[in-house]
Amino acid sequence: MRNVVILGSTGSIGMSTLSVLEQHPDKYQVFALTAATQTDKLLQQCLEFKPRYAAMVDVTAAQSLKVQLQQAGSKTEVLAGVESLSYVAAASEADIVMAAIVGAAGLLPTLAAVEQGKTVLLANKEALVMSGELFINKVQQHKATLLPIDSEHNAIFQCLPAAMQQQSHSQAIASYGISKLLLTGSGGPFLTTNLADFDQITPNQAVAHPNWSMGAKISVDSATMMNKGLEFIEARWLFNCQPDDIEVVIHPQSIIHSMVQYSDGSVLAQLGQPDMRTPIAHALAFPERMASPVSPLSFKQMRDFTFTQPDRARYPNLYLAITACQYGQGATTAINAANEVAVAAFLKQQIRFTDIYRVNAASLEQFAQTKVCTLDEILQLDQLARQKAEHFIRKHC
Ligand code: NAD
Ligand code: MG
Repeated sequence: MRNVVILGSTGSIGMSTLSVLEQHPDKYQVFALTAATQTDKLLQQCLEFKPRYAAMVDVTAAQSLKVQLQQAGSKTEVLAGVESLSYVAAASEADIVMAAIVGAAGLLPTLAAVEQGKTVLLANKEALVMSGELFINKVQQHKATLLPIDSEHNAIFQCLPAAMQQQSHSQAIASYGISKLLLTGSGGPFLTTNLADFDQITPNQAVAHPNWSMGAKISVDSATMMNKGLEFIEARWLFNCQPDDIEVVIHPQSIIHSMVQYSDGSVLAQLGQPDMRTPIAHALAFPERMASPVSPLSFKQMRDFTFTQPDRARYPNLYLAITACQYGQGATTAINAANEVAVAAFLKQQIRFTDIYRVNAASLEQFAQTKVCTLDEILQLDQLARQKAEHFIRKHC
């Protein structure tokens, strides 16, 4: 029986994780669930999965959860405040930690799990975008096991040679005969939208992804393809490679989830339904396999299977993120922070869809050369870049 902590259990990945765990009560038990503010959903999850702990960032929400759980006769202990997330992630009883908080807020609790040498299932890509080098160093130092959940990175991981899966961070990919990592992306909901209409795109249109059902922030990132840019940076750190080793390919059907090209001419791809419960089940069971609730892929129903190159004018955020990746950790921390601010402002209808790029580009221009090494420096730059992005929005949007 392995004890699982889900950081961000009320989100899209959190709920998909519970849906996989539900099928395997003989293998896993839920040790702790965490959420920011959503009391109702967390209450229902606690009653169903009976974790030892439930941790909430919002103290008032935690108090309300505590009262309701007591009334229902639940034994789950409620913890409150931002530190309580790191506490449950690092608890000695925890074996597996699913890092599924959205944004920079996920960094500290995820690092807390890494520092205790846990098996960390990483969905929270922003953590690696901000702190890639430091994060991977800590994984090695504390002998944590890091398994990618992001569908592209999970697909690449599945296509890697076994030796690299065991220690994917230590040697350059060329030494395993790999020539390229091919990161696929659907192109999002605006793959064929007239560029002249981009200014008028609404939040509802942007979050309506054609293939995947996800949280609001990553859905907007998929529409701008900033998501693929963040994934580019994520891949650079997860697989210890250079920006030149990674290529982005648009594959609108989202059936191939990414590929690995080898020096002998072979290309290995991982295929499946666009359903996160497949990578989640893969990582939970690794190195074994176990059933997930995902329906099998049917080749009888598959029609088109196409590939194109991402257009710079349509997806400027993708190229911005790749440029940031070439600059280094300061640049990627800054654009990640700016992008979180810009996406939140767009979702609140304070800025236009096309302003997201303007905010991000201004941030890169300002912080491209900034050097950050320590966690404190990263967190300080994250805050500063947020303030500058907010200032840019007030002045220029
Ligand atoms: P979501 O918005 O649906 O859920 C986010 C979760 O994080 C919620 O449980 C919320 O309570 C918690 N949270 C939000 N802000 C917080 C804060 N400040 N402090 C603590 N907890 C907080 O997001 P999601 O779509 O599940 O995505 C989660 C992460 O997984 C993101 O980093 C995303 O990029 C990544 N990811 C998601 C998908 C997907 O299909 N949804 C796919 C690949 C990667
Ligand atoms: Mg992805």
